[in-house]
Amino acid sequence: MTDDTVYAELGVPTVVNAAGTKTRIGGSRIRPEAREAMDRAAEEFVRLSDLQAAASDRIAEVTGAEAGYVTNGAAGALMLGAAACIAGTDPGVAARLPDTESVADEIVMPRTHRTGYDHALRTAGATIVDVGTNDATLGTGARNVEPWEYADAIGEDTAAVAHVYKSYEGPPLDEVCEIAHDHGVPVVVDAAAELPPVENLSWFTEQGADLVAFSGGKGIRGPQTTGILAGRADLIESVAAQHLDTHATESVWDPPERLLDADRFDGVPRQGVGRPLKVGKEELVGLLAALDAFLEEDHETTRGEWRDRADAVAAALAGVDGLSTTIEDGAKSVAPTVSVAVDAERAGASAAGLVLTLRREDPRVFVGADGVDEGTFAVSPMCLTDEEAEYVVERIRANLGVGDGGD
Ligand SMILES: *Cc1c(COP(=O)(O)O)cnc(C)c1O
Repeated sequence: MTDDTVYAELGVPTVVNAAGTKTRIGGSRIRPEAREAMDRAAEEFVRLSDLQAAASDRIAEVTGAEAGYVTNGAAGALMLGAAACIAGTDPGVAARLPDTESVADEIVMPRTHRTGYDHALRTAGATIVDVGTNDATLGTGARNVEPWEYADAIGEDTAAVAHVYKSYEGPPLDEVCEIAHDHGVPVVVDAAAELPPVENLSWFTEQGADLVAFSGGKGIRGPQTTGILAGRADLIESVAAQHLDTHATESVWDPPERLLDADRFDGVPRQGVGRPLKVGKEELVGLLAALDAFLEEDHETTRGEWRDRADAVAAALAGVDGLSTTIEDGAKSVAPTVSVAVDAERAGASAAGLVLTLRREDPRVFVGADGVDEGTFAVSPMCLTDEEAEYVVERIRANLGVGDGGD
């Protein structure tokens, strides 16, 4: 919250982030270890395929998967994963993507797992086939998806099964993997925001997932534009072939064998559907450094700090007329989060009005807005310093006409 930021030079207001790791306001605070590694990476040239091969080894080590790849965000990982499931090591199919005429291109997924990030799967050329219903919301005891529905939907045209992981959303991943594997189809898991806990790095692979996508710019706190794809070596090989810049003539095409075995390809692949999702050496190295620091971090201490910050914000806001606070610290939250209910009449502003006013300040103050239409907003401690948390409280109070000296 100083005036000498690079953003001030550009005339762009900074954001005080009480909303958590949201891409549209800059994601997470990149770790100093990652910044330092990026700076060092910028000093030399390196062959990107060599770097991806080293990244693959490191990702395999920490996830328990056979191989790994550094992608352009978790969304990029999903797109590349879909492309790999569709094309494998067939350079003809890969060259035609996203055109998938007469190729198995269907990705089966539960209707309740559909999100805006599906677009990443479709960008590779996939057609999404929905299964299940929304019956669990009817209160009849019915589940959203039954195992037989996957089996029924998988056929000749199926390239993969997709699963967007949330701990409260069924069906259990191991069951999904079993059904898919019985039909010879891989399972791609979107686990973008599921780190921490650290154990989740390997959990999805242990359940049987063939490819797992993590965001590098959320809990890992690596460069914003990075992601991780961990999974089966043959699928990662296909990812590499469709992502790396492959402009080369066969006589001198010499990719690192442990990432991409040239002998398995009928010829040099063309630039693939993944080529627009470039990952630079600086970002790649920064992600690996962030991953190491993420593994070394004492997550219990971090969570304790988040909880203390959330408690302090909740206590300070609870004293404001028209506001009432609760702390959500359950399965649906990555971090303990303060949920603030606004009684518009007593507070003098609605939740939506307050949220919008805060966003228009300089610096902009972003609080979690998922509940504004129901009269609530949220304060996440994840991306705040203690000082910023106090500032957020001060701005909320000021906007409700409550001074610094108490109410
Ligand atoms: C954030 C998120 C993504 C996208 O991750 P990026 O690293 O920003 O590309 C995909 N899926 C889910 C469920 C997410 O929460």
